[in-house]
Amino acid sequence: MIIRSYATIVHRIEAALSQSERFSVWRRGNVRTATQAYALYCLRYMPSIRDTPLIYLSAGIHGDEPAGVACALHVMEQLAAGNSLFTQYEWVVSPCDNPFGYERDLRENETGIDLNQTFDRPEQFPQTSFIVSSLKGVHVHTAIDVHEDCDSSGFYLWERRRSSRVLIGHRIVHRVETICPINRATEIEEHKSIDGVITLVDTVGSKGWTRGRYLAECITGCCLVLETPTQLDLETRVQVHLTAIRTALEYLKRET
Ligand SMILES: [Zn+2]
Repeated sequence: MIIRSYATIVHRIEAALSQSERFSVWRRGNVRTATQAYALYCLRYMPSIRDTPLIYLSAGIHGDEPAGVACALHVMEQLAAGNSLFTQYEWVVSPCDNPFGYERDLRENETGIDLNQTFDRPEQFPQTSFIVSSLKGVHVHTAIDVHEDCDSSGFYLWERRRSSRVLIGHRIVHRVETICPINRATEIEEHKSIDGVITLVDTVGSKGWTRGRYLAECITGCCLVLETPTQLDLETRVQVHLTAIRTALEYLKRET
């Protein structure tokens, strides 16, 4: 059953594209199901400042996690509107990578596959293949993959890093806890967690071939995977993601 409209997202993307000449389609793809065809979008923002870090922001690979998609669209619209908090960086934004699942509130794609476990064989799935191809030719400094967790009562994040990169996960949690409960379990999804942060350094295969792992191990040395509790209202979850992203940008600015 369709409960959300992907056409609305496409409309917002097209509106943002028409608002700023610095904002463009970086890659466009297609996915066809038995009854429908969806256009896939990966967008790029080129700032006026040269040699600034590139942020890769992705959402919606799990179709039942709408706060991530809403967050990515908000960032996209802030970029198009010229909000300097965001426009001082270069961006590649992949706002909704599983349109079929998004419209039906399904985690998986049209064939029942969890796309976030397919980055070891991207050529077999048009959505994963599109994501991998959109990462060719860009030099990502920091990746942020936005998710939600229906089993968690609080926010937490995965911080995947090469051992040489600075850790910022706890700073993000410290800021988020002013607006959202934190999941402080000592173990989350069978991984050791400390105050809402699961740190995965260098090569870690225990979560399978997720986009987070692909980004951290094959594309860049830093990927944050944000998880909001879906039991909270949508607007709060979007604000939590935005707070986390703003905090990451602040520390990125100090680091570079
Ligand atoms: Zn997810």
